[in-house]
Amino acid sequence: MESCCRNCGRALTPDEIAIYRRMVNRGATDFLCITCFAEAYHVPEKLIQEKIEHFRAMGCTLFSPGESPPRDG
Ligand SMILES: [Zn+2]
Repeated sequence: MESCCRNCGRALTPDEIAIYRRMVNRGATDFLCITCFAEAYHVPEKLIQEKIEHFRAMGCTLFSPGESPPRDG
């Protein structure tokens, strides 16, 4: 099942859905893409991308694993 941005209709990545849930509403059923999110909440798109990386690095299960995080031991 694929979700689309409720503002511009663009297909969303799992990360975009996850960050929306993390930052806006955990139970959300419609979402904004990063671009529309940035406009709606007056934050730089780059900040949202950093948040995605941050949550992913923390191992948040909402986020798809990217390249494997550096790991010592
Ligand atoms: Zn959008």
